[in-house]
Amino acid sequence: ESRPQSMSAFWMPFTNNRDFKANPRLLVSAEGMYYKDVDGNQVLDGTAGLWCVPCGHGQPKIVGAVREMIGQLDFAPTFQMGHPAAFDLAERLMDYTGHKFGHVFYTNSGSEAVDTALKIALAYHKARGEGSRTRLIGRERGYHGVGFGGLSVGGIGPNRKSFGPLLPGVDHLPHTHDLLKNAFSRGEPDFGVELADELERLVTLHDASTIAAVIIEPVSGSTGVLVPPKGYLKRLREICDKHGILLIFDEVITGFGRLTTPFATDYFDVEPDMMTTAKGLTNGVIPMGAVFSRRFIHDAFMEAPAGIELFHGYTYSGHPVACAAALATLEVFKEQQILDHAKAIQPYWEDAVHSLKGLPHVIDLRTIGLVAGIELEPIAGKPGARAYQAFKKAFAEGILIRTTGDIIALSPPLVLEKQHIDELFGKLTGVLNNLD
Ligand code: PMP
Repeated sequence: ESRPQSMSAFWMPFTNNRDFKANPRLLVSAEGMYYKDVDGNQVLDGTAGLWCVPCGHGQPKIVGAVREMIGQLDFAPTFQMGHPAAFDLAERLMDYTGHKFGHVFYTNSGSEAVDTALKIALAYHKARGEGSRTRLIGRERGYHGVGFGGLSVGGIGPNRKSFGPLLPGVDHLPHTHDLLKNAFSRGEPDFGVELADELERLVTLHDASTIAAVIIEPVSGSTGVLVPPKGYLKRLREICDKHGILLIFDEVITGFGRLTTPFATDYFDVEPDMMTTAKGLTNGVIPMGAVFSRRFIHDAFMEAPAGIELFHGYTYSGHPVACAAALATLEVFKEQQILDHAKAIQPYWEDAVHSLKGLPHVIDLRTIGLVAGIELEPIAGKPGARAYQAFKKAFAEGILIRTTGDIIALSPPLVLEKQHIDELFGKLTGVLNNLD
């Protein structure tokens, strides 16, 4: 494989580091659990790309379905018309999500799914004659993509700071994590549930009649695998119900088996009114996102006075090739019993995560489903530098990990076997033993 002749024109997402250009990491092919880089080295995928390849790379059925649909129907509008795969996929998705929802709206990414969900929430209240409900509530440390809606409800300072003013009328719940830091290690999973009551404080402050929706990642992914205290999501659900506020789960990361259940809603047994997803939906092969909504939300638009509709949609909503990829992904989940495999291997994964305890600089370990957050002690005055060093060394050793600040996040394809866990954690142990 040849290297690119120049690396100056591609404006890389989120990347401002000169270091990359001096030391490029170029992936040229992928199969199963491994990438191959430009020098022919195998790199074990410890992150499922960007959390988006549950069934492993180059999955033949999914790749085949994509090839076939491109040949058959390269594009079809879904405005005032449609194509069979869009309708078939919606039905299959209702099955996969256990018929908790009545409808699904297609987008092209997680960011678009989030913005769509927020718009549906606002329009829903208007359709019901409650147009005063315009406030949106997110959470500190929440990541909801990079659209202006998702950025506004998101709670990551550096992502927001260059783009203000963002949406008005947005509040953020405090994140449980900072207060809970060691509650899990202390074995106090119930500690911190009362933080959900911060929502009651916002209701008192603003009045429920002004609040449209709360959006939350059930497990914060991008900010370092932050698991909610037991009962927290349930309490949020109760408060939303009490005040007529819609609850939206952003399951872009937690969807499609990441926690060993179809979605986090199944894991925590709490049902949101809307749910956003993307990533694993097409096994990463083609961009696609989706917003699920409970039946009463769609009904409100059907019953609304003429002129109140959801004026919203994307050129590529329900792209036939994306629908084909998603249908094939669902088939692979079923045929290969991906969730059963994930559940069966999870204890071995969990033990491997805990085996890192006591290694140099490791100050916290978190794991849920097939995800891990490994928090490192920052180098004084250089936040993120130690984890970035770990990322670079890991890549050189042939394992792909992801870092956010000084937290290493792992989220492998769900089809991994014990030998992959051994390889990933064996090499990672070597890396952690050799950091500055
Ligand atoms: N929401 C969550 C919870 C995410 O993790 C992400 C992506 N990491 C997004 C939204 C945005 O998705 P995308 O990058 O596909 O726009």
